[in-house]
Amino acid sequence: MKFNELPLIAPILKALQDKNYSEPTAIQEKAIPLVLQQNDVMGCAQTGTGKTAAFAIPIIQRIHELEEGKSGKPQLLSLIVTPTRELAIQIDDNIRLYSKYTNLKHAVIFGGVKQGQQVEKMKRGVHVLVATPGRLLDLITQGHISLSQVKIFVLDEADRMLDMGFVNDVKKLLKLLPTKRQSLFFSATMPKSILNLANEILTNPKKIEV
Ligand code: AMP
Repeated sequence: MKFNELPLIAPILKALQDKNYSEPTAIQEKAIPLVLQQNDVMGCAQTGTGKTAAFAIPIIQRIHELEEGKSGKPQLLSLIVTPTRELAIQIDDNIRLYSKYTNLKHAVIFGGVKQGQQVEKMKRGVHVLVATPGRLLDLITQGHISLSQVKIFVLDEADRMLDMGFVNDVKKLLKLLPTKRQSLFFSATMPKSILNLANEILTNPKKIEV
């Protein structure tokens, strides 16, 4: 199958062409249509499977369609939470790449660095935020970020998130997210503890395994 057989908009197809990506990976082929149709998704996938683009591409497309013709300060419509700074930066780099022919505004925040630049970027407004849990909660507590308009929430590498002790942070975030939202949940492994967390986050999820 080719990317242009998926229901993707021209600006995204063009960005994929620039990268010389012609065929979606297995997880992309399955996830992209499901996410575009606004399903909750539970994906069992390792890094290296093309998982990042599998959620980044349909999120960019949905926001492009929601925001068409709108002006003014961008609202935070999608939140992607991931356990480490390295993963957060990778995801943000992917978003930059696939959204280069759209007007999407995105940012990445993580701990261990001064928060000034991150706060400035949030003040200007972003549609998509990639974040590690601790810094995200700090900036929410300080009033720099609101999750009230989030329509698509992604929890990436959920198993590592639990291993790193972020379960309470994730639960705090869930309380701050709108209950009416689309949620995508990715984990390389699916032990009981992860399934329980997935059940708290997802509604009637479509399951994908690669
Ligand atoms: P990920 O699993 O998201 O970390 O992606 C693994 C690697 O595969 C990254 O370097 C991506 O840029 C690359 N990649 C993602 N999707 C495709 C595709 N459809 N064709 C070729 N390479 C891809």
